Amino acid sequence: MKGTMMDYPLTLHAVLERIPNVYPGVEIVSRLPEGGIHRYTYLDFYRRARSLAEALQRAGLSSGDRVATLCWNHYAHLEAYFGIPAAGGVAHTLNLRLHPRELAFIVNQAEDRFLIVDEVLLPLFEQFRGEVNLDRVFVISHGKKAQPAGYEDYETLLAQAKGEFDYPPVSETDAAAMCYTSGTTGNSKGVLYSHRALILHALAFSLPDVFCVSQHDVAMALAPMFHANSHGLPHVAVMLGCKLVLPGRQLDAISLLTLFEQEAVTIATAVPTVWMSVLDALEGGAEGSVCPWRIAPNFRAFVGGTAAPESLIRRMDARGIRMIQVWGMTETTPVATCSTLKAHMRDWPEDERYRVRARQGRALPFTEIRVVNDQGEAPWDGKTMGELHVRGAWTASSYFRAPETADRWTADGWLRTGDIATIDPEGYMQIADRAKDLIKSGGEWISSVDLEAALMAHPDVREAGVIAVRHPKWDERPLAVVVLRPGTTANVEALRSFLSGKFAKWQLPDDFVFLDELPHTSTGKLSKLELRKRFAEWKWKETAQPSG
Ligand code: ADP
Repeated sequence: MKGTMMDYPLTLHAVLERIPNVYPGVEIVSRLPEGGIHRYTYLDFYRRARSLAEALQRAGLSSGDRVATLCWNHYAHLEAYFGIPAAGGVAHTLNLRLHPRELAFIVNQAEDRFLIVDEVLLPLFEQFRGEVNLDRVFVISHGKKAQPAGYEDYETLLAQAKGEFDYPPVSETDAAAMCYTSGTTGNSKGVLYSHRALILHALAFSLPDVFCVSQHDVAMALAPMFHANSHGLPHVAVMLGCKLVLPGRQLDAISLLTLFEQEAVTIATAVPTVWMSVLDALEGGAEGSVCPWRIAPNFRAFVGGTAAPESLIRRMDARGIRMIQVWGMTETTPVATCSTLKAHMRDWPEDERYRVRARQGRALPFTEIRVVNDQGEAPWDGKTMGELHVRGAWTASSYFRAPETADRWTADGWLRTGDIATIDPEGYMQIADRAKDLIKSGGEWISSVDLEAALMAHPDVREAGVIAVRHPKWDERPLAVVVLRPGTTANVEALRSFLSGKFAKWQLPDDFVFLDELPHTSTGKLSKLELRKRFAEWKWKETAQPSG
C-alpha cells in the first residue's frame, strides 16, 4: 500500500523559491577576484539566478545541456550554481588549476555548450579556446564598463531576461550539476549530481550530529566551488538562508582571517593545508601574545580531502577552533562520513576522544560503508584492513559516458573507493591510505598516512609526505619528505627517534629528505604522484631493511 503523502520532488527550484518569503534580506558577501568586497541580499541573488535561467533559455539552452563555469568563489558563480539548473541545464564547474590540455579534454568530454568565465581567467581560457567547441562564452567582469573584445558580457546576458521565467518540468533525479574528479590518481571522470542528491546531501550535512548548521551560522564556502561543490556548503547555506561569504581567489591565511573576523564567520570547510596555514598565522605571534584576529566563539572548521593529523585537530582546539573531520569524494557529493563524537564518548579521557576525532568517522544517514579484502567483508574491529566501499543516496552509480569504468562498482552496487581503511566497533572508519599510496614492504603494508600524522606532531615539522620507493630486497620502503618550520633544526636522527616509540622498527622511514615546500595537487592535496616521480631514482643506503 502506498503512503498518502504528496509526491513532492526534492529540487533546487524549491530551495530558490523559498528565498523571497523566508530570508530575502540575508547577506551574501563576496571578495571579488579583482579585489574589493561585493555585497547583496538573498533577494538580489534570487532575482539574478532566475534572470540567468530565463536568459539561458532565451539563448537556446535545452534541458540537460551542460553550461561550464570557470570561476573563483563569488556571487556570480553562486548564481550559476542555481540559475543553470533552474533553466533545466547542468552546472559544470571546471577546475581552474588544471592544465589547459586537461580542461579542453573535460569540456569536450562533457560536451559543454556554454561557458561562464571570470575575466581574470580569460588568459587561461585562451590557452584552450581553440581546442573546444562552445556555442557561447559569457564573461563576468563584475560591473566593469569596458568588455574584452570578442566575448559576450554576463551582465548583458542577464539583461535579456524580461521577468517571464517559468521552470521547465524537472524530475528530482535529473542532473543539476557536474564535476570531474581531480585526477589525483588517474584520468578525470565526470560525476553528475541529481537535484535529489544535492538536497539530501545538504539536509544530512546540516544535521546536529554532522555539522549542526543553522540559519544562525555565517558560512564561508572556502573550498573551491569547482571542487566537489565546495564540499556542499553553498547548497547548505542557500537551503537554510545562512549569511554566506565567498572568498574569491585570496586564499592566504591573512585574507581569510580578516574575512572570518569582519563577517563573523562561524563555519568553513577546507583541505588540511589551508587550515595549516591559518593555524600558522594564528600561532605566529610571540609566545603569550594576544591573537590579533577575533574568531567567532562557535567557529567550526570542517576538514577533509586528505587525512587531518591529530596534532592539527589539537592545535586548532588550543586556538578555540573546533575541527571536524569528514571523508568523502567527488563521487559522494562529497561528504560521506564525519567524525563527531557520540553521546557516551563525552566522558572519555581526552586522548581517547582525540583519537576518535582523528578518524574519518561514521557514515552519515543514508550512506553505508564496508571494508572488503581477500577474505570478504572485514569485521568492524578497528584492525582489519581492506578496500573501503560506499553506497548511498548521494553516491554516484556511474561516471558520465565512461562505460570502461564500470568495474569501479561491485556487482552488488557499491562504489570501490580505492581507499584502504578499517572500521572500529563504534562504526568509525579510518583511512590507512589510498591503495596506490600504501607502502608494501617485505610482504607487509605500511600506512603512509599514519607516518605523516606522527611526523606532523613533531613541533619542528610543518608538513610531511611519506612515499614508497622501490627497494631491491624489500620491494618498497618508506621515504619521508619533510618541510621544517622556519628557524627549526630537527634532523634525521631526531625525527627517527621521535617516531621510534610509536612504530615498529620495520615501519620507520629508512631515510628523510628535507625540502622547502611539498608539491600539491590542483585541489590543495599533497601530491604523492609528484613526490614518487621526483624520488623514483632514490638510492637507498645499504642499511635499509625491515627488521623485527
Ligand atoms: P582525488 O581522488 O582526485 O583526490 P577527490 O577530491 O574526490 O579526488 O578525493 C577523494 C579522495 O580523497 C578519497 O578517496 C580519499 O582518498 C581522500 N580523502 C578525502 N577525505 C579524506 C580524509 N578525511 N582523510 C583521508 N583521505 C581523505
